[in-house]
Amino acid sequence: MSTVLNFNAGPSMLPPAVLQQVQAELRDYRGSGMSIMEMSHRSKEYEAINSHAESMFKQLLGVGEGYRVLFIQGGASMAFAQVPMNFLKPGDTADYLITGAWAEKAYQEAATVGSVREAASTKEGGYRCVPRPAEIRLSPNASYVHLTSNETIQGIQWHTYPDVGDRPLVVDMSSDILSRPVDANRFALIYAGAQKNLGPAGVTAVIVRESWLGQASQRIPTMLRYATHAKNNSLYNTPPTFGVYVLDLVLEWISKSGGLEALGERNHSKAELLYEAIDRSKNFYRGHAEPESRSMMNVTFRLPSETLEKQFLAESQKAGMVGLAGHRSVGGIRASIYNAMDVGTCQTLASFMNDFSRRNG
Ligand code: PMP
Repeated sequence: MSTVLNFNAGPSMLPPAVLQQVQAELRDYRGSGMSIMEMSHRSKEYEAINSHAESMFKQLLGVGEGYRVLFIQGGASMAFAQVPMNFLKPGDTADYLITGAWAEKAYQEAATVGSVREAASTKEGGYRCVPRPAEIRLSPNASYVHLTSNETIQGIQWHTYPDVGDRPLVVDMSSDILSRPVDANRFALIYAGAQKNLGPAGVTAVIVRESWLGQASQRIPTMLRYATHAKNNSLYNTPPTFGVYVLDLVLEWISKSGGLEALGERNHSKAELLYEAIDRSKNFYRGHAEPESRSMMNVTFRLPSETLEKQFLAESQKAGMVGLAGHRSVGGIRASIYNAMDVGTCQTLASFMNDFSRRNG
């Protein structure tokens, strides 16, 4: 079997131990004589996975009984519309903090549903940082405030979430969920596509405060109401059963790896290896993010020319590293180093970077 060092931005690498377990259980799920993909979502086996995943998720995030964890579909892109459909009351406004391409998309999509405003934007500076507290202008009665915890394309991350008073805070955590300890109780709603830190594509995790759910609109289609999925324990319709099964194994893996505290430290050291290589290169590599907003998940940088960037990608690929091209909208290099990646792989990339800049600088 050949494997590569996988820096893909999402879908991205999964913990090898999880893949091995999936393989071992594929044809005969724990003595049932069939694969998890072949059994009813109402079976006792699947119900056990579904409820274990919800309680494990709550435990890892440190949220209590006042929250529900839902496993639904549509990706974060669906949530961009679904959040305002549920929670943006007619005549009211929602505040958006615009920090990059994904926050922009969330804002634009919400604008198709109701009235939204930019409470801050770092677009003018080229999305290199999150706004400082003094730059954020919140409306007094915002239905909610929305932010993007980690901008996957630009490589920008919030390291301290802003104080929004008693306005409900909604966060798109698609690319950094469960990667570090957070005070999840501060959020009214967290959503994330699974395909980076949680499992395979096709599952969207939604963590929602139950008291807020009680205020959601009833005037939208059944499938789009978060309350429908909460009331039915994510089993209103056929869920993406295989994806939730793998997600549950990933949650177990996170717990066995020491939980968010341990993963946070590991993710920090991984990112440090790459940022050190950037900083040490005396401007050969130019990091996109300002140091205080550097992402621990997506490390983005440019080289002195596009020709050198092409050469970097070709040579790194020969050395077994894939997925390092920056997003097509911004170019350059992006190393996505989510939870499943080990320190050694980041070390390999950092050594390659040091060597490449020495040879070409
Ligand atoms: N938000 C962020 C921060 C993302 O990184 C992505 C996907 N890369 C999305 C939203 C869109 O997610 P999906 O493809 O699951 O709809």
